[in-house]
Amino acid sequence: MVSGRFDGKVVLVTGAGSGIGEACAARFAAEGAFVGALDVRAAGARATAAAIRAHGGTAMALTCDVSDEKQVQEAIATLVASFGRVDVLHSNAAVFEPGVYGRDRELETLDVAVWDRTMEVNLRGAMLMVKHSMPVMPDGGAVVLTSSVSALVGDSVHAAYGASKAALIGFTRYVATMYGSRGIRCNAVAPALVLTPNARRAMTPAQLADKEAERLLPWACSVEDVANLVAFLSCEESRCLTGQTLVIDSGTLAHRPQHAVE
Ligand code: ADP
Repeated sequence: MVSGRFDGKVVLVTGAGSGIGEACAARFAAEGAFVGALDVRAAGARATAAAIRAHGGTAMALTCDVSDEKQVQEAIATLVASFGRVDVLHSNAAVFEPGVYGRDRELETLDVAVWDRTMEVNLRGAMLMVKHSMPVMPDGGAVVLTSSVSALVGDSVHAAYGASKAALIGFTRYVATMYGSRGIRCNAVAPALVLTPNARRAMTPAQLADKEAERLLPWACSVEDVANLVAFLSCEESRCLTGQTLVIDSGTLAHRPQHAVE
């Protein structure tokens, strides 16, 4: 294992059982971190931690529902009992509304319980993770929150999801404001939908073609691309960045398609 930007650091990643969180946990570990791989799905957390250990890294699987304050306190206490502190928190656990790709997307038929659960996991969960990490984060630590491009533009499929991710941008600025004097930075990443095999399967060919047409670059973002940005925001290289939301979307939001004027 090469010496890395996170040698000796304790990094806690939520939603580490799949997708972006899994890739970020692997990246932190590959660069020397002791990783707490937290997920509500015990099997997902365990698989991520086992994969890290198989590559020579150090990881602890933590099963926890981030929306439950007691579970959050216990998970952080378990990590701290072994590793002593949390140098970096990547709060990434999230849920989508069910039926997001074409069904149940009308506000007037939206189940309020779905709205509430989305807010509980995506917003309250992030708040609880930060709340209970701050007392065990040394000065100079870093927090990264996973927001989304759905926080920044309207679309016809995300009601609760976009609103929850937009609220995280405000919360990012709050945390940056409150903890800046301790040298603790807080930034958000706003990725476009990452076209994992699962996401591809859930979309129609027309929806996939639309996504491709919207991008300026010929390539879509992978979870590893997002992990690159999260790692950058978590280490010394970004020491002057705080309170920011960085869009990572291969140039989708940077332009507005227009017809040439004849
Ligand atoms: P993405 O593609 O954006 O990474 P995923 O759905 O693959 O999204 O990953 C989200 C992760 O968050 C999943 O592993 C999921 O189990 C986890 N997760 C969802 N709800 C909770 C929760 N309440 N507490 C902790 N982890 C959660």
